[in-house]
Amino acid sequence: MVGTHIYQNITRLAESLGFAACGVAAACRLEEESEHYLSAMKEGCFAEMEYLKRNCEKREDPRLLFEGAKSILAFLAPYGDESATPEKEVIFGNGTCGRYKIAQYALGEDYHRIIKEKLSAILNYIKSRIPEARGRVYTDTAPIMERAWGVRAGLGFIGKNNFLISRSAGIRNFIGIIITDVEFEPVFDMSQYKNHCGECRRCIESCPTGALSPYRLDAAKCISYLTIEKKGSDIGLNRSMAGEREGWIFGCDACMNACPWNSRNRNGWNEFKPQPGAIPAAHLRRR
Ligand code: SF4
Ligand code: SF4
Repeated sequence: MVGTHIYQNITRLAESLGFAACGVAAACRLEEESEHYLSAMKEGCFAEMEYLKRNCEKREDPRLLFEGAKSILAFLAPYGDESATPEKEVIFGNGTCGRYKIAQYALGEDYHRIIKEKLSAILNYIKSRIPEARGRVYTDTAPIMERAWGVRAGLGFIGKNNFLISRSAGIRNFIGIIITDVEFEPVFDMSQYKNHCGECRRCIESCPTGALSPYRLDAAKCISYLTIEKKGSDIGLNRSMAGEREGWIFGCDACMNACPWNSRNRNGWNEFKPQPGAIPAAHLRRR
């Protein structure tokens, strides 16, 4: 187990890089979380997202993804922008324009690249202090249950809308992960885990298609899936179907927008803010 001062320096570095929170958990098999995941898969909740159905063993146990893994560091990268209006002017390839709804996470620069750079700086710091350390950074780029690791690292709880919610940093956060063979002391005791949704059902009631039930999402009904992930979906088709989808043409934020924990969102990084003016439709693509 490495000294706590290295971990404290990591938290300071993460803060200086703009992360809203960070935590660490011991690498292990995610038993309960995997059970939940596999039952959702068996119920058909992943629709045609075949990549979610592969590599289940690695998803369940990060030690199979990264040999020798001892610790999972999890980080929250805020992308909330109070000034972002739900509708944006979009310019399509043929020069026509229109106002449509776009998920806020997709408005800025590619989050994979931005977060990976910052996680790499943290991993480099770890290696500078422990030269034999090995590690890898991930931003939605491997079969990892990021939200589950966020919980285990003490960053928050899973809401009925399935998002990781931080009591101090709200709901609009990307999750960055570092897996390393360095053994850090875990910061959170899972026996203390508590859900803070209470009697609230706002997210479920706000879903325009009935895709959401508590802690379950039926992707086949979800506008986010239909406009981004579903095979054959493209911006032109999404535009033609916007009327049936409450104006959403790329993603959907309804169940996120409804959540009272938005009041705790941190101001998002500048890189994630939309450029002024109309958005080229070409910007709206699965990354
Ligand atoms: S993203 Fe939209 S369609 Fe999908 S579950 Fe949430 S509210 Fe429903
Ligand atoms: S809207 Fe309410 S029920 Fe849904 S995740 Fe937020 S607090 Fe929980």
